Amino acid sequence: MTAKELIELENRYGAHNYHPLDVVLTKGEGVWVYDTDGKKYLDCLSSYSALNQGHCHPRLVKVMQEQATKLTLTSRAFRNDQLGPFCKEICEFTGYEKALPMNSGAEGVETAIKAVRKWGHKVKGIPENKAEIITMSGNFHGRTTTVISFSTENEYKDGFGPFTPGFITVPYGDFEALEKVVNPNTAAILLEPIQGESGIVVPQDGYLRKISELCKKERIIFIADEIQTGLGRTGKLLACDHEGVRPDALILGKALAGGFYPVSVFLASKEVMDVFRPGDHGSTFGGNPLGIALAREAIRIISEENLIENATVQGEYFMKRLRDMNSPHVDIVRGKGLLIGVVLNEKAGGARQFCEALEKRGVLCKETHYNIIRFAPPLVIKKEEIDWAMEQIEAVLK
Ligand SMILES: *Cc1c(COP(=O)(O)O)cnc(C)c1O
Repeated sequence: MTAKELIELENRYGAHNYHPLDVVLTKGEGVWVYDTDGKKYLDCLSSYSALNQGHCHPRLVKVMQEQATKLTLTSRAFRNDQLGPFCKEICEFTGYEKALPMNSGAEGVETAIKAVRKWGHKVKGIPENKAEIITMSGNFHGRTTTVISFSTENEYKDGFGPFTPGFITVPYGDFEALEKVVNPNTAAILLEPIQGESGIVVPQDGYLRKISELCKKERIIFIADEIQTGLGRTGKLLACDHEGVRPDALILGKALAGGFYPVSVFLASKEVMDVFRPGDHGSTFGGNPLGIALAREAIRIISEENLIENATVQGEYFMKRLRDMNSPHVDIVRGKGLLIGVVLNEKAGGARQFCEALEKRGVLCKETHYNIIRFAPPLVIKKEEIDWAMEQIEAVLK
């Protein structure tokens, strides 16, 4: 089938809940992907940072093949030989006491919400059904009904109510506003240390540290959603590491299984995780041996291939090249590591047309909001590949 026919088929039979670029991909390898005509593109989105290890990493292909012939699913009714080692390895990798694997990122967030609510009611002593969670304007934590309940984007919510109560939202980056709404019923603060979907919004240095201190003082669980920013993306294992802050609880997903399988995980202290009792939370596929065998290898790849260091080095180079371009369309270039946002000015007329022009030149990226281009290539990217991408980006942005 031709690309045109495939697009027509998708438009006719598929839901229209996305507005993708009209490039139909059939193959991926490292930072490169290929369309149905064999044309080659540099992937500068990495499926929203789910492909930090690059497309079809050979070590993950091998684990997928081997594990698929051994055991794929046990459910949690029985034990499997991957779960214990996975929990130990992810806890040691990130510095947490306990881990609970789930599938999608949104499910990891839901798990965090359930854990801290129950902890609030049963451990902190908040009256039943009164636990509050503070969230941030511009947040993105997924698409389930509870998670969109505290979104501040009308587009994410329109028509999907009624919404889940129990969330208070304050402006992102404004510590005083946050402090004001804390009260004895506050169970947790949930935030992204850098807001990805909101346009690579980096809060001022010191913000996360102040929140961490406040949480300790008021006995509040600080939950970092590092589904997009974690696992090396920003040049540290976690984006919170840039401020030397260790949140009380952490959610990872996306690159956790290198783009092969949806695996997310909620990580916390023993005190928080122990509120879960047999029967009160679960998932048929959460912790399945195929997914977590992949996750174990995916985190080994991050350390053994020095992907975190590479994100720092290449990220700085990528951002410098973008800034040095002095494009008349660009307001600012911001980000950390290989999570980069190019904010266009008003006269530029929106980011979509630039993404479409870049697609023609073989660079795949996606606008976020109206006027921001996000660049987030796989962390295996090399300097020569950035140089090639810059020629294309320069041609489009100049
Ligand atoms: C992508 C993302 C999610 C949701 O993950 P899904 O796997 O799409 O459910 C949640 N939080 C953040 C910060 C994300 O970037």
